[in-house]
Amino acid sequence: MSDHPTSARGKVPRKVIPIAPAPIEAHEQPLFEARKKIQPRSISGVFARWRWAMVWITQLFFYGIPWLQINARQALLFDLEQRRFYIFGWLLYPQDFIYLTTLLIVSALALFLFTAVAGRLWCGFSCPQSVYTEIFMWIERRTEGDRSARLRLDHSGWTREKLLKRLAKHLLWLLIALWTGFTFVGYFVPIRTLAVEVMALQGAWQIFWVLFYALATYGNAGFLREQVCTHMCPYARFQSAMFDKDTLLVTYDAARGESRGPRAKGIDYQAQGLGDCIDCKLCVQVCPVGIDIRDGLQYQCIGCGLCIDACNTVMDKMHYPRGLIRMSTENGMAKGWGSAQILRRVLRPRVLIYGAVLLGLTVAMVVSLYVRVPLKVDVVRDRGTLSRIVAGGQIENIYRVQLGNATEAPQRLQLAASGLEGLRVASDTEVTVEAAADRWIVVRLQAPYGVAGPGSHPVQLEVHSPVDGAIAVQAKTTFLVPR
Ligand code: SF4
Ligand code: SF4
Repeated sequence: MSDHPTSARGKVPRKVIPIAPAPIEAHEQPLFEARKKIQPRSISGVFARWRWAMVWITQLFFYGIPWLQINARQALLFDLEQRRFYIFGWLLYPQDFIYLTTLLIVSALALFLFTAVAGRLWCGFSCPQSVYTEIFMWIERRTEGDRSARLRLDHSGWTREKLLKRLAKHLLWLLIALWTGFTFVGYFVPIRTLAVEVMALQGAWQIFWVLFYALATYGNAGFLREQVCTHMCPYARFQSAMFDKDTLLVTYDAARGESRGPRAKGIDYQAQGLGDCIDCKLCVQVCPVGIDIRDGLQYQCIGCGLCIDACNTVMDKMHYPRGLIRMSTENGMAKGWGSAQILRRVLRPRVLIYGAVLLGLTVAMVVSLYVRVPLKVDVVRDRGTLSRIVAGGQIENIYRVQLGNATEAPQRLQLAASGLEGLRVASDTEVTVEAAADRWIVVRLQAPYGVAGPGSHPVQLEVHSPVDGAIAVQAKTTFLVPR
C-alpha cells in the first residue's frame, strides 16, 4: 500500500505541497509624527513690516521699562519679597489684588474682542512666542543665510564653515535668551540690584530664575517654535470658538485661484481653465508654521499674513490683481463682498457686547484706582492682654496696628477712636510713616468704667493725615468690657 494519496481517479500518486502562509509585511506605525523642520523663506510686505514694528514696540517696552525710574524707584516692579507692587507711581499691596484680577479680566476680554474682530492678531503679531521666534529667525538668516542656504547647510556634512555658522547662531541666541531671562526676573527683583548680584555671582535663586527663563526662551524660540503654538498653547485650540462668519481671517480665494497650475506669462490662462494661482508655493515657503493656506482655515495658522505678502508679490509679477490671499471673512468670501461691506459687519452685537463690557471694566478700574486711599490700616487685638482696668478707673484694650503708607512721601498721621462714649487713644496720637513703608505701632484705647455692659463692643480706629483730606481710613475693631 502506497503512502501517497491518490488522485480523484485513484491512479496517479500526488505529492502534497505545503502552502506557506502569506508573509505578513511588518509595518511600523510611529505613535507620534516626527517634526519636519521648517525653514521659512523671508518676505517683505505690509504684514512683514507690521510684524517687525510689533517686535520693536514690544521689545523696547519689555527690555526698557525695568530701567525706568519714578521717584528714585523702579517704575514697574512686582516686589514679591516685600509684597509691594510699584506701578508707574502707584504703590499696590497684596490687599489690592482686586486690581490685578481686574487687569487680567480686562486683558482676557480684549483678547476675545480682537479675536472676534480679526482672528489671531495677538498670535501673529504680539505673542512672545511669535516675537522671539521672529528675532531668532532673523539671527538665523544673518548667520546662515536665507531658506535655500539654510536647507543646504542642514543637509551638508560638518565642515569648518558649518561649525562656525552654527556656533555664531547659537551664541547670539544664547545672548538674547540670557538678556531676556535677566530682564524678566528684573520685573520681580530690582533690576539694578539684580545686575550687581548676577555679575558677582551672588543670589542663587535669582541666578536660577534668570537661567530658567533664558533656557525657556532659547528652547521655545530656537527649537520648538511653531510646535509651541500647535501643541502647547491652549488658546490655539479654543480660539476658533470665538470666530464667526464675520471674523476677519487670512483667506485664500479658491474661486479665483483654482484650478491652480503653472503657466507661461502673458497667455490667456483662463481660456485654458486655469485660475490665478500659479502654484508657485511661495505662500507655503514663507509660512512660519509650514501650512498651505490654500487647504482652508487650519488651527495651526497664526494669522501672521506673510502668505498674503508672498502671494501679492507673485500677483504683481504676473500682473494679476492683488488679494488672491487676503484678509476676509467667511461671509465676505461667500457673498463676494468688498472691503467696505466686510468692515461694516465689524460692529455686530457680539463685538459691541465685548466692547461695552471691556470699556465698563476699564473705566471702573481706572476710577477706582484714582479714588483709592493710599493708606492701609490693619488692626489686630493684642492677645496677651484682652482687657484690663487701669489707674483712674478706665478700661483699657491694647491693639497692634499696621500702617501702610502707599504714597511716595512720608506721612504724618493722627489717630482717634470712636464707637463708645468717652473712648480715646491713650497712646501716641500722632505717628509718622516713611514713604512707601509699613510701620507697626501699639495703640491703647481707654473708655470710662461703666460706659457699656460686659462683652464685646464694635468701635472704630480713625487714622488720617492732617494735611491731606484724601488720606483717611476708619478701621473697625472691637472693645472688650470685662465682667
Ligand atoms: S503664492 Fe499665490 S500663486 Fe503662489 S501658490 Fe500661493 S496662492 Fe498660488
Ligand atoms: S498660513 Fe499664512 S497667515 Fe497662516 S501662519 Fe502661514 S503664513 Fe501666517
